[in-house]
Amino acid sequence: MFPVYRGRFAPSPTGPLHAGSLVAALASWLDARAHDGAWLVRIEDVDTPRCVPDADRLILKQLADCGLQSDEPVVWQSHRGALYQRALDELIEKGHAYPCGCSRKDIEAALHSQGLKRERHQMAVYPGTCRPERGGLHGKPARAWRFACPGNSSHVIWHDRRLGAHQQDVSAVVGDFVLLRGDGVWAYQLAVVVDDAEQGITCVVRGEDLADNTPRQILLQQALALPVPTYLHTPLVRDAQGEKLSKQTGAQALDLSDPAAALHEAARCLNLPAATGLVPELLHHWVQAWGQRWR
Ligand code: GLU
Repeated sequence: MFPVYRGRFAPSPTGPLHAGSLVAALASWLDARAHDGAWLVRIEDVDTPRCVPDADRLILKQLADCGLQSDEPVVWQSHRGALYQRALDELIEKGHAYPCGCSRKDIEAALHSQGLKRERHQMAVYPGTCRPERGGLHGKPARAWRFACPGNSSHVIWHDRRLGAHQQDVSAVVGDFVLLRGDGVWAYQLAVVVDDAEQGITCVVRGEDLADNTPRQILLQQALALPVPTYLHTPLVRDAQGEKLSKQTGAQALDLSDPAAALHEAARCLNLPAATGLVPELLHHWVQAWGQRWR
């Protein structure tokens, strides 16, 4: 039996932790502790071309330096392909997934010919060319597998514990998203949904930059008849130019010569009160404060 609360921190090993990722790690750990729950670490290394050798080991060491240790053995997504395959098979069987033979150029040409120019994060919204009801692959070899957004129920309404009510029509805004890429890499959306359910995660606490993925994940949970966890998206750390800190924007690795100072920075971003003492005392103090606010 799983205890009532199970949370997780799921870093991608594309580099060491930076100040922004420590905020998500600390918040997810505090939320788990404030609920007397379990906190798990999962290394999200499905996108192997983007992974940096040894970054996983370094991240685990950085977390341990900050007093944050997984309550259960750490799992690596790269070892869990069979679980993702099983979920994809189920989606195919239920008619929720279809093979797609379109290249990026094909997608742009199709959008252009329909007079559409729907773009989102510089990515073209897939126009549904290979949907089964539109003739499928049209003789092209399959490159990827896509989720078939349900036409009548892709408008997802969800509640974030910090950000409040949210909604998105996934079909209109995102389109049929990729589950398995043409290069054989499992998409984050599928892997995260399968793992959260398989690990019994009840509460997802992660950075606000990921909030926009939540409706896609809820659609997948519904299609696979999986429980929907609660969500809390934490504030982002910005650099002096107001840009969100991320590995892509070259964020500096955390300086952990003084873990208490790094934790203080993260706690400040989470509006937690200043505290004194060594790492275990600081964490203890913030668990109380977190519990009063978020329980
Ligand atoms: N692996 C993702 C990242 O490092 C986080 C995924 C999640 O928490 O859902 O940005």
